[in-house]
Amino acid sequence: MPTSKISPYDVIIIGAGINGCCSAYTLHKAGLRVALIDQEGIASGGSGAAGAFISPKISKAGELKEIMTKAHAEALEFYTTNFPHFTLVKPLLHISNSPEEGEKVESFKHETHLKYSNIPHKIQLLVSDEALRMPSIYFDIGAVVDAQGVCTAMAEGIDFYPFKVERLIHTDGVWEIGDLRAKHLVLSIGAYPKLLPIDYVGLRGIWGHRIDIETSTHVPCILHHHVSISPTTKEGIVAIGATHDVHYSPFSGDVYDVEQGRDMLLTKASKSLKLNNINIINDYTGLRSGSNDYLPMLGSLVDADATLQKYPHLRHGERIDPSEYTYYPNLTMINGSGGYGFVLAPYLAKRLKEHIAEEKSINPILSPSRFFPRWAKRQS
Ligand SMILES: Cc1cc2nc3c(=O)[nH]c(=O)nc-3n(C[C@H](O)[C@H](O)[C@H](O)COP(=O)(O)OP(=O)(O)OC[C@H]3O[C@@H](n4cnc5c(N)ncnc54)[C@H](O)[C@@H]3O)c2cc1C
Repeated sequence: MPTSKISPYDVIIIGAGINGCCSAYTLHKAGLRVALIDQEGIASGGSGAAGAFISPKISKAGELKEIMTKAHAEALEFYTTNFPHFTLVKPLLHISNSPEEGEKVESFKHETHLKYSNIPHKIQLLVSDEALRMPSIYFDIGAVVDAQGVCTAMAEGIDFYPFKVERLIHTDGVWEIGDLRAKHLVLSIGAYPKLLPIDYVGLRGIWGHRIDIETSTHVPCILHHHVSISPTTKEGIVAIGATHDVHYSPFSGDVYDVEQGRDMLLTKASKSLKLNNINIINDYTGLRSGSNDYLPMLGSLVDADATLQKYPHLRHGERIDPSEYTYYPNLTMINGSGGYGFVLAPYLAKRLKEHIAEEKSINPILSPSRFFPRWAKRQS
């Protein structure tokens, strides 16, 4: 850790998950001086728990699909080019887990530009009859990254500061975080407490558990069904994940039942294929941070008090152009990627770099301020 008299940075990033690390990597490559802070270490939050599949989102047409399609293509290119040692490329079999999802898979097939083919015979022999009866799509190319490894590699050469940020101070056009100073601040703190009064930001934490196992069964492709079952960058290790629990939160003080989570994962995996001689070797748990409308967030944050003071009638539903809101200066939030943080991170980091280094505006669809008017109306 660099010490004492610290020279000013261009950007301070709080949170060293995939969003913070990928942003740090991209901004540093663009020639900016970057400080990266985390209270626990690199990839210690949701990112460290991730299965980290770079899979397309099987969804119907719309804004979300357009963004996810672009992000998926950019992510495949980004990880295979820049971090090949942490990226395993394998075919991907996506099997629907309900009739509704089956419909999405069928319509996705008609629209996608991704190459897909029939399920090879050897994989048909491996997969259960129940799974084979469901609509599915077999992509020739899928990928999974080593979550911890890739985040650590991205942070290499970046000044890293391990401490918990308690307060954000902005004076004379500069953000002061502990001893650090920078013009720009990036908040990539996932599902952790927000550090600012921004209750309008529609986020929720979704707890997830995945496991790494040893098994004598060879798994030749990435398989998404009730859970994901996949080879990993570690020879002989198969990953199974993940649970989706909207009720449990590590911030509630409750103890998480690891055995119950393991049972759930193995039971769901057994519906897709038979895994022999299983030995669980690692558990990973963490919170995904999902936005209420499923779109990720990248953009400035509204200063709610200042904006309500300027436009009190927002409380009564008055419509004000978002460019009139008061924003925290030179502060950008990246959040809300839900279960697609690794897919979205290169896409978001690239747009963040274009915004900070090239002063390009960010697509307003991604702005966290999209949640502000509705929240403001409830404050009357
Ligand atoms: C079980 C599981 C499986 C998943 N599988 C996939 C997958 O297959 N593919 C995919 O693309 N995504 C997957 N995800 C989702 C992905 O992991 C998340 O979208 C991603 O981790 C979000 O990254 P982040 O950087 O925004 O947040 P996080 O990784 O949570 O990072 C936030 C960081 O901020 C730090 N922090 C917070 N507050 C402070 C503070 N005050 N001071 C200092 N540091 C602070 C925390 O310590 C933490 O390290 C999965 C997630 C889980 C939990």
